[in-house]
Amino acid sequence: MPRLPLRRVETLRQHLDALIDATDLAARTVHDPVSYPRRYTDPRDQEIAGLYAASLAFGKVDLFRRPLDAWFDWLDRGGGPYARTLSDFEPEAGAVEQLYYRWARGPDLIALMAGARTVIREQGSLEALFGGPGPVRDRLGRAVSTLRDATGSSPISRGLGYLLASPAGGSACKRWNLFLRWMVRPAEEGVDLGIWRALDPADLVLPVDTHVLRICTFLGLTQRRDASWRTALELTEILAQLCPGDPVRYDFALAQLGISGRCLGYRDPLTCPSCPLDRLCAAGSKGSATSA
Ligand code: SF4
Repeated sequence: MPRLPLRRVETLRQHLDALIDATDLAARTVHDPVSYPRRYTDPRDQEIAGLYAASLAFGKVDLFRRPLDAWFDWLDRGGGPYARTLSDFEPEAGAVEQLYYRWARGPDLIALMAGARTVIREQGSLEALFGGPGPVRDRLGRAVSTLRDATGSSPISRGLGYLLASPAGGSACKRWNLFLRWMVRPAEEGVDLGIWRALDPADLVLPVDTHVLRICTFLGLTQRRDASWRTALELTEILAQLCPGDPVRYDFALAQLGISGRCLGYRDPLTCPSCPLDRLCAAGSKGSATSA
């Protein structure tokens, strides 16, 4: 990735900082899947709640809230995410077997839970999966492989395979990168949890979803249209030029600009003038090639 000119770096940083300043970060967490791990104060609950919430965080927030609410109600009836995961839950699992969200089914979530339980019993935490050498992609690949084995499922169902997507296939692994952001970035802003030390914020990769990719395209940060690992890495390397110690610093505000409906994906005479990114944004008018 070529170095951006210093002036461009400064301008981007200025506007993205302004976006953060204009976003009520704490209030927006209510509309974000990070709200699930944020319900808990015990880091053991936060860690396992983060895994479950991130696993189902695909598609529209309004749609994945229904199965997540039901799943977390069941966890809480068992003493919370950690206690339920570590307990002998099978006799009570019937209550969530009927759950489904797109191709993920209740039995897939139960298998994920079984894998997490084995890992926590053997290694003490999910964080332990991410220790060791190498870039985050390698660590993530090893962690997913261990979790898959720990589920004891063979063959792995389509739903479980999706919940435990691996970077080995080239996927952007948005949900894993989101989970890692929650666990690793500091909690001061009132968004992430900052409970892990196995990784440093500088190691993180941008969780690229449709909103983030679209807005990054409008800003000219990438020309790639695919939400792949390569795109995520390319964008992370650019953002690291703005903030080397914390390249995913802008992720939440960028994603919320889309999730909130404030960015319509095209230039809108009513909303765009008040957007902090307006002066840098190359979005086209509705229906044009640069709208999305
Ligand atoms: S299209 Fe409008 S709201 Fe969306 S990023 Fe561009 S200026 Fe902001």
